[in-house]
Amino acid sequence: KTTSKPPPLPSPLRFSKFYQSNMRILVTGGAGFIGSHLVDKLMENEKNEVIVADNYFTGSKDNLRKWIGHPRFELIRHDVTQPLLVEVDQIYHLACPASPIFYKYNPVKTIKTNVIGTLNMLGLAKRVGARILLTSTSEVYGDPLIHPQPETYWGNVNPIGVRSCYDEGKRVAETLMFDYHRQHGIEIRIARIFNTYGPRMNIDDGRVVSNFIAQALRCEPLTVQKPGTQTRSFCYVSDMVDGLIRLMEGEHTGPINIGNPGEFTMVELAETVKELIKPDVEINMVENTPDDPRQRKPDITKAKELLGWEPKVKLRDGLPLMEEDFRLRLGISKE
Ligand code: NAD
Ligand code: UDP
Ligand code: UDP
Repeated sequence: KTTSKPPPLPSPLRFSKFYQSNMRILVTGGAGFIGSHLVDKLMENEKNEVIVADNYFTGSKDNLRKWIGHPRFELIRHDVTQPLLVEVDQIYHLACPASPIFYKYNPVKTIKTNVIGTLNMLGLAKRVGARILLTSTSEVYGDPLIHPQPETYWGNVNPIGVRSCYDEGKRVAETLMFDYHRQHGIEIRIARIFNTYGPRMNIDDGRVVSNFIAQALRCEPLTVQKPGTQTRSFCYVSDMVDGLIRLMEGEHTGPINIGNPGEFTMVELAETVKELIKPDVEINMVENTPDDPRQRKPDITKAKELLGWEPKVKLRDGLPLMEEDFRLRLGISKE
């Protein structure tokens, strides 16, 4: 009696870049503001399959609605503080609340997300041999004593303050990335993101650009926190996504600053929003929160030289694009 051989099992390595040219990419925090724009860009490339893992703390499925059901797209409800088993070639690790009111809401959870979440994603990268990019932050520079901030600056950070769950959390995440790189040979990329704005920002997340635009549209006074001379540099989200992809695809681990060096005081920002959106709105000076950095502006020499990247969208061109999105979501049409 002869027995026929069973057909070969499908290779478990089918996902691997060695077996097919498709790239399977995990985006943690992909339902959030920057993450969802990144997913849009990655999905434009037909060779990419994208998996989003998100616990919807500050993100929403709505940001990804155009991809739900697409054959190259998968959405998983998952908290990165728990282990995750998927087979991927690249990991963009964004999962973490980014706005002070959200990251201070449950600081223990924020630091767990930064530390345990990053550890899990590194464990995953190690198991499957994936390249991993961390979205760190300009907050690792704290209240900086040198200006603008180059990547070589070690920062001025309060380890026990109310922002520490976020900025110290990201500092530990960077340390973990480099330790896995040196000890286990993981391919890492670290982006230090400066303030980013654009459509799909949470309307009531307390960030300055979203606050001012929502306030102007609702005819409420713009709340400038004292002293108002503190500065930030705002990068439009499409520029940010372009920088993150260049970093992932390039040869440099970073850390590399990604941000727009155009620097504005909060009073100047309020005046610009007022002029562009609602010239008769009032500006109110209000109390600030502790440890607010007085100035912040990226030195982007490294991004220019190593990634050939620089931002293209000026604040005056980006704000109206965000206004349009906020008008739709708030149901306030242009008079
Ligand atoms: P966001 O809040 O819109 O997105 C973060 C996403 O992560 C959300 O979808 C949220 O639900 C998800 N998330 C949070 N905790 C999670 C967890 N434990 N498990 C799984 N998912 C979780 O914020 P964003 O502005 O898109 O920021 C994205 C990344 O960029 C963050 O890592 C942030 O620290 C970094 N960053 C942002 C800025 C900025 O100006 N927006 C500046 C510096 C750094
Ligand atoms: N991990 C994960 N997915 C994987 C592999 C690992 O989430 O595919 C988690 C794992 O649960 C562990 C962490 O990543 O908590 C670090 O993994 P590593 O293998 O580096 O360390 P170990 O498991 O030996 O502590
Ligand atoms: N800010 C403000 N009015 C607001 C919200 C924020 O003047 O309604 C100021 C805040 O004091 C800080 C700056 O804007 O100096 C940026 O704050 P945001 O929370 O947007 O970002 P981050 O502090 O993380 O850079």
